[in-house]
Amino acid sequence: MKAGDIRQEAISASSDWRPMLSERQGSGPLEPIDDIYAKDVFNERVMRERLPAEICRAMQRTIDVGAPLDPHVADVVATAMKDWAVQKGATHFCHWFQPLTGLTAEKHDALKVPDGQGGALTTFSGKHLRLGEPDASSFPSGGLRSTFEARGYTAWDPTSPAFLMRGENSATLVIPTAFVSWTGEALDKKTPLLRSIDAVSRHAIRILTLFGNVGGVTRVFPTVGCEQEYFLVDRRLYFARPDLVSCGRTLFGAEPPKGQQLSDHYFGAIPARVLAFMAEVERELYRVGVPITTRHNEVAPGQYELAPVFEHANVGVDHQMIVMEMLQRVAPRFGLCCLIHEKPFAGVNGSGKHLNWSLSTNTGVNLLDPRDEAHTNVEFLVFLCAVIRAVDLHADLLRASIASAHNDHRLGAHEAPPAIMSIYLGEMLTDIVHQIERGSPNRTIEGGALDLGARTLPKIPRHSGDRNRTSPFAFTGNKFEFRAVGASAAPAWPMTAIISMVADSLDFIATSLEKDVGTSPTPQALHAACATLLQSIIKQHKRVLFDGDNYSDEWRREAKARGLPMLPDTPAALEVFASRKAMDLFERHGVLSNAELASRLHAFSEKYSTQIRIEAEQMVQLARTLILPAAMEHQRRLAEAVGASKAAGVNVDAGLGQLKAFAGLVDSFREGIDALESAATVGGDDPAADARAVRDGILPAMGRLRERSDALECHVAADLWPMPTYRELLSIR
Ligand code: ADP
Ligand code: MG
Repeated sequence: MKAGDIRQEAISASSDWRPMLSERQGSGPLEPIDDIYAKDVFNERVMRERLPAEICRAMQRTIDVGAPLDPHVADVVATAMKDWAVQKGATHFCHWFQPLTGLTAEKHDALKVPDGQGGALTTFSGKHLRLGEPDASSFPSGGLRSTFEARGYTAWDPTSPAFLMRGENSATLVIPTAFVSWTGEALDKKTPLLRSIDAVSRHAIRILTLFGNVGGVTRVFPTVGCEQEYFLVDRRLYFARPDLVSCGRTLFGAEPPKGQQLSDHYFGAIPARVLAFMAEVERELYRVGVPITTRHNEVAPGQYELAPVFEHANVGVDHQMIVMEMLQRVAPRFGLCCLIHEKPFAGVNGSGKHLNWSLSTNTGVNLLDPRDEAHTNVEFLVFLCAVIRAVDLHADLLRASIASAHNDHRLGAHEAPPAIMSIYLGEMLTDIVHQIERGSPNRTIEGGALDLGARTLPKIPRHSGDRNRTSPFAFTGNKFEFRAVGASAAPAWPMTAIISMVADSLDFIATSLEKDVGTSPTPQALHAACATLLQSIIKQHKRVLFDGDNYSDEWRREAKARGLPMLPDTPAALEVFASRKAMDLFERHGVLSNAELASRLHAFSEKYSTQIRIEAEQMVQLARTLILPAAMEHQRRLAEAVGASKAAGVNVDAGLGQLKAFAGLVDSFREGIDALESAATVGGDDPAADARAVRDGILPAMGRLRERSDALECHVAADLWPMPTYRELLSIR
């Protein structure tokens, strides 16, 4: 089909997409939300209905306080889970995990097999629930194992509920698992996250204990809620763009006259087809217990966002992976394709995933919420300063935790924070922090009274977070928002980095305080010790605090003067994993061994190089087989027109000039293709060196070729241009 015909089809589909819906989704009354919410989740409610009380209690202990699970309990749970799933139509189960690819992986096995007597027999038992052994030799292990010793195991994570994934005519019982090698090394993103959650809980409880542990907290866990940005494009147009299909982003494309200049899309009325899509995604997510609450148009044309209610970090990051999958799975039903790439289109905003997080106790207290009483204020300041210290000490690691070839296009492109990590606290908290630094607190900006109970530390009004959308790491009243995370990132890894570095600072603070005042101090002694300790922490780490415009060039200069790490691209950032400081941090808290961390440097570097090589190859192919032929055809037309005009006795000076100029563009484009092709042969000895070689050799050649193609696009006759344009991709909805 010609590009022009595809455009026509896409345009008519944008006003007539309903026939694409199957009957179930498109017609009939809507099921009330109460009838679908979490209906496909094997959660506490289902367990209470189907399991003996003591088994429920054992499961609950594991979920709440991380107690190890008895195999007998697993057997009973497995039987109940299987019966539940089969009654709901499931035929298969799978262990679902998050390998280092950044995606999820699953291998399905039947729940029933022939019994040899003409019937079927259930095979699923506690053993199947607890442990799987996928033949997973092709997943990146970053050198942790070679294919001949490929055994990897998936181990049930009872703290993240199993659920049913429904297809058109199937239901599969999905069991969240950790993925480890036969030596127990983490081959995935969940295992280190679970380990970091244990570490932060341990040290946070030491702090709470110093403060008397009001409420008898037994476990502290991180909470997470990820805002997810994405683009929608018409599916026909998508398939007419080989670069979108193979790379998830456009490798060529001149900017349209109208992009996001008018800000008329942001928070605008949601287009009908898009709203239908969003509603369908939400209903599917509700079924599997993912609590989506917000939806809106984002800044770029064709860009949207959704966000869930926050949850325990472990469940929240699993749910985030489901969100990304669901967005892509549902889009075709509406003739759409969902792009979760960080930068699908040059010239308009890219997509991020704002990772909102906090720390919560098992009694439901948010530890990053100042709350009301004097002692909770001091406690809050301790946790706040732990975060400040953590981010300053490990800003480089924080940056590295979100490094990817995709995210490099977005960070610092005047639409997302730069690759320099800093913390925004807002005016009021900044003022308080300065008072602590001076050691003489006497006021709060918004008129809150000085708290006399804790003379050395100020009282903090609640919900005082202002907004600064340019900061990579902003305090927003009762949580932090890490805004530099890329849209397609698996949030488990940046979460693990944050939690580990915060655990380390809590450990440091708890150790200092315990040494100073013992483990059960009087409030006065504790508050005095906190005042001294927090003062020194702020003195030492305040350089990481910045409330101004992070997009500005002044900030880059200022950050450099402050000595903050500047790691502009992925190869530079990933090298942090090889630093003693990062290795010690993860090892000290039992999150990752040195070998496990090294394997991540290896795997993520390889991913970077591979992605860029695929892009380069795709570019060359597109340029040779689609763009160059179109350009040459246009040149032939111009030449023919000049020839015919001349024969007819018309002055052809202008036409000849145009032809020559165009032929010059085509020549330089041709040279650009050859240059990229030869640049693409660069390489390095190990994955990190290879990534640097790819960055320095291939990326610049890609940039030059793109410029030339985009120039051609502005000259070639519209009917000859072989691919849908930005205007069509971004505006047909
Ligand atoms: P905004 O765009 O103004 O930042 P949104 O409402 O779009 O806000 O998203 C805020 C996100 O932060 C939601 O996903 C919400 O669940 C999450 N969130 C709120 N409180 C917490 C918390 N204590 N811990 C983790 N995430 C939180
Ligand atoms: Mg936000």
